[in-house]
Amino acid sequence: MAYFQSKPSSGRHFLQIPGPSNVPDRVLRAMDNPTMDHRGPDFGKMGSAILQKVKHIFQTKSHVVIYPASGTGACEAALVNTLSPGDRVLMCETGWFASLWREMAERLNIRPEFLQGDWRRGVEPADIEAHLRADKAHEIKAVCVVHNETSTGCTSRVDEVRRAIDAAGHPALLLVDTISSLGSMEYKHDEWGVDVTIAGSQKGLMLPPGLSFNAISAKALKASETAKLMRSYWDWKPMIASNATGFFPYTPATNMLYALDTALDMIFSEGLENVFARHDRVAEATRRAVRAWGLEVQCAEPRHYSSVLTAVRLPEGHSANGLRSAILERFNMSLGNGLGQLNDKVFRIGHLGDIGDLHLMGSLSGVEMGLRLAGVPHKPEGAKAAMDYLSGNA
Ligand SMILES: *Cc1c(COP(=O)(O)O)cnc(C)c1O
Repeated sequence: MAYFQSKPSSGRHFLQIPGPSNVPDRVLRAMDNPTMDHRGPDFGKMGSAILQKVKHIFQTKSHVVIYPASGTGACEAALVNTLSPGDRVLMCETGWFASLWREMAERLNIRPEFLQGDWRRGVEPADIEAHLRADKAHEIKAVCVVHNETSTGCTSRVDEVRRAIDAAGHPALLLVDTISSLGSMEYKHDEWGVDVTIAGSQKGLMLPPGLSFNAISAKALKASETAKLMRSYWDWKPMIASNATGFFPYTPATNMLYALDTALDMIFSEGLENVFARHDRVAEATRRAVRAWGLEVQCAEPRHYSSVLTAVRLPEGHSANGLRSAILERFNMSLGNGLGQLNDKVFRIGHLGDIGDLHLMGSLSGVEMGLRLAGVPHKPEGAKAAMDYLSGNA
């Protein structure tokens, strides 16, 4: 019994949710190798090579640790390694994932202050600056930002956030969740002065779910020496100590590391800049399709458009979930649902990872046919607008 297809269907399933993304065959084949002794001599060589290679994707020279965990684990790791009970942190309400991170912080006994947002744009650096300026005693220990808010399709400008923190002359750490953007959109851990970058395997990196990452600045590492939140599994210290020789303090996800090695090779051979440009291009084609349908993109600030996904608002009185089920049933394509306050109001088209022009056109055609099937008022001109853009006739 195959659980991945509920009913017989020819052709490939289109997994157009904004993560997990489609896993290239080459990556799947890399996983299909014998699991090796994670304490044996060969492992150390492989581990060292991968730990070195993965730094390029974060554009950092600092430590990157790899957990056998989903992205949420790495979010927790970033907090528990750098903070102490009762610490104040500044978080920004960009959407569902920022809200989950805030709830996590509260459960961990940290005191988050939440800058309100309308789920239609990224963070406003001026608000961060004003909030930090008011904290004259420097009680706020960290600013936490979601780079690409996967629930809304809005991206925050991390370089501008860094400048806002500096302009306020505030020593807070900068923690950034790049779970859905790393490997798809430009990101510079060192140059942007980020202290902890959090990432996951199953989105831009084109891997199955199961690995997550912390890239750690020297300042964050120093903070971890005095941070008092309880930690054991997530503790950076034994991780970094073992990583020095390419090993891990507990069993790593060995076959996922084979996959990571291959996915990184694929990304670097295409070239990071080309990978980002490809994502920008399919995202622009998607937004043109949405506008030509006469529908609205959830992100209201063009400077914050995401190249990873597009959340599309449905007209009042129409169900985004009904549309998604019709498309799954009829065309074997999964689209992302609306999360939290956006449930049933938006659907999300993932266009990240292993995606090219024709794959995108298949997805947009599926959406256009679905709009007709579900009786959502629209102009049937979206796929054409995307084709015009992609073929250079726009
Ligand atoms: C997917 C995602 C998460 C959650 O990651 P999991 O791997 O599901 O734990 C957190 N933040 C963002 C921005 C995400 O896109």
